Amino acid sequence: MILKAYRIMADHTPICADCGELCGKACCHGDKEHGMMLFPEEASRIWHDPHFRIEKRDMCGESVWFAVCDGHCDRKTRPLSCRIYPFVLRDGAVVFDDRARRICPLGDHGVDEYYDPRFLEAVRKTLASYQKHYPRFFAAWQRALAEYDKFFR
Ligand code: SF4
Ligand code: SF4
Repeated sequence: MILKAYRIMADHTPICADCGELCGKACCHGDKEHGMMLFPEEASRIWHDPHFRIEKRDMCGESVWFAVCDGHCDRKTRPLSCRIYPFVLRDGAVVFDDRARRICPLGDHGVDEYYDPRFLEAVRKTLASYQKHYPRFFAAWQRALAEYDKFFR
């Protein structure tokens, strides 16, 4: 499943340019605290990677692995959360993740017209697949996103 997800995401990026040049790769500076959620089957893939600290956390009643990175990684092994960033699936639609608004300029007004539709479709397909194959994990993730809404909306 995770390899299929990586294949679907391939080299797609949010816009047809290196968005890291807009912001100095703001999403990779790593705060050593929050880290990123790992999707099912992912933790074992980066377990021994020295760039990550892996830890289990409770996510709305579901035990889920998270990875805290040191701001460096091999692009080929970066987690799915990084590959889909800054988007999430809500009610079947790919939407900008409000948690990213503080650091990611792709959430700025008017930037959405530059989103690469191939990237958005890859995100939708990947996450819909997780919803189908890992419904409990996906439901917990959706509950967590709904919790974040209280702070960001
Ligand atoms: S913070 Fe946003 S614009 Fe910057 S590299 Fe990350 S995804 Fe791209
Ligand atoms: S794992 Fe890699 S892509 Fe993801 S935040 Fe860390 S440095 Fe950036």
